[in-house]
Amino acid sequence: MKMLINGEWVSSQSGEEIKKINPSTGEVLGMFPAGTKEDVDRSIDAAEDSFNSWSDMTSVERAKILYKARDLIAAKREELENLLISENGKILREARDEVNGVLDQIQYYAEFARKITGDVVEGDTSRRKIFQYKVPYGIVLALTPWNFPGAMVVRKLAPALLTGNTVILKPSSDTPFTAEWIVKKFVEAGIPKGVLNLVTGKGSEIGDYIVAHKKIALVTMTGSTATGQRIMKQASSNMAKLVLELGGKAPFIVWKDADIKNTLKTLIWAKFLNVGQSCIAAERLYIHEEIYESFMNKFVEITKKLKVGDPTISDVGPLINAGALKSAEMFTEDAKESGIKILTGGKKADISGKFKGGYFFEPTILDNVPQNSKLFQEEIFGPILGAAPVSSIEEAIEKSNDSIYGLASYLFTKDPNFIFLAAEKIRFGEVYVNMPGPESSQGYHTGFRMTGQAGEGSKYGIEEYVKLKNMYVDYSGKDLKINTIRDDIF
Ligand code: NAP
Repeated sequence: MKMLINGEWVSSQSGEEIKKINPSTGEVLGMFPAGTKEDVDRSIDAAEDSFNSWSDMTSVERAKILYKARDLIAAKREELENLLISENGKILREARDEVNGVLDQIQYYAEFARKITGDVVEGDTSRRKIFQYKVPYGIVLALTPWNFPGAMVVRKLAPALLTGNTVILKPSSDTPFTAEWIVKKFVEAGIPKGVLNLVTGKGSEIGDYIVAHKKIALVTMTGSTATGQRIMKQASSNMAKLVLELGGKAPFIVWKDADIKNTLKTLIWAKFLNVGQSCIAAERLYIHEEIYESFMNKFVEITKKLKVGDPTISDVGPLINAGALKSAEMFTEDAKESGIKILTGGKKADISGKFKGGYFFEPTILDNVPQNSKLFQEEIFGPILGAAPVSSIEEAIEKSNDSIYGLASYLFTKDPNFIFLAAEKIRFGEVYVNMPGPESSQGYHTGFRMTGQAGEGSKYGIEEYVKLKNMYVDYSGKDLKINTIRDDIF
């Protein structure tokens, strides 16, 4: 693959490339450029040079390009689905769902073309007004993760571009090809040269350099909390605005009056979607003590029916890379050493044939996990879920909030008092009540604590990409009276 810098598809200036592995087979899928600091500089210069003409266009004109990109993606959606399967290891149904999300988000943001408004405010004296404009920040750096490699890319590109910013996209090194495919569609749709640039390469090698670059005005990043913290430090050198969507550790509360079938459907989705590699994945299961045993039996029974293997025909695909597989193994080893009982799963899945070398892990359920254990405190990001019984609403809320993360949470109950109390007291950006996620384009995806800053989606998310500036105007035609200056000297 190639990078896109100033409208040209180019190799890394050093000529170096990085290997990308297909997670389902363990075989090499392809090579991508290891971008250098010089590549970064060139892309940022291009984004700077194109900013004036791009931001001078109206949002309506820019939206036409977004709609066109959307149509071009829709026309070739199967290619994108196949890429999500080979590059990320998504199962077919999830790949299709993600492409639906990609199209929905571009459409949603493009529809804002006529909806971003400012204010006209009265001045302190008559015949004075303050015009409050929403203007683009300038150059946006978009750093994206691998777990939803299509949706996360467009969730940043579409609002940033619509509002007149120019963009440097640095995708995850685990999913560079999906990003390239999407960027090509934006180029085909008519994005002028320099407005959108794609730079690939290891975040650990070029990340600090791009984030700290003096010309970057806004960094929007979805990824781990550790990387988010590092970005905050680097961005102190340019005071870039930060939109950080980081880790999660969703509590999933099942009350004794819950609709069990709907709860189980949602739980299977919330835990095994993308093999648990989702920021809104269920990571802690709190069940009312009176139904704990019966619910767990059913949960285990259904989980055992999930087919693991070939993503085109299975329910659960591979983890993203060898490191993720190792991490899943360590979590279960730790659990065993702490005496936690494994009810099902607990090891690398044994897949034969073409997929033998893939990073498959068995769907795993753990019993009676203590609140202070690693399993309940650290983000697992794999197909592993621990459960614990709880006896009161207060206990369920208190334990849910006992996490450094605060993104998604789930509650299954018919008790309206619990529902409204939870909405108030569960300090998470999203509380899904009696329903699954994921977040909608018109919802504001945001989190408390170490989950980050700002958010994406909805009018609030799009407004992260515009800065409010003010023009003060006096149209009285009178002599100016300035309280602190003597008039007799003029
Ligand atoms: P990650 O390792 O933090 O990487 C995220 C992005 O940052 C990648 O493009 C990465 O590039 C880049 N990066 C790494 N080091 C950098 C540095 N020093 N400076 C600048 N950029 C740097 O996260 P991930 O493993 O891809 O994604 C998993 C995490 O994302 C999980 O914690 C998950 O909860 C979180 N997530 C959150 C949300 C949300 O909405 N809150 C959604 C999805 C995922 P390289 O790949 O080249 O290292």
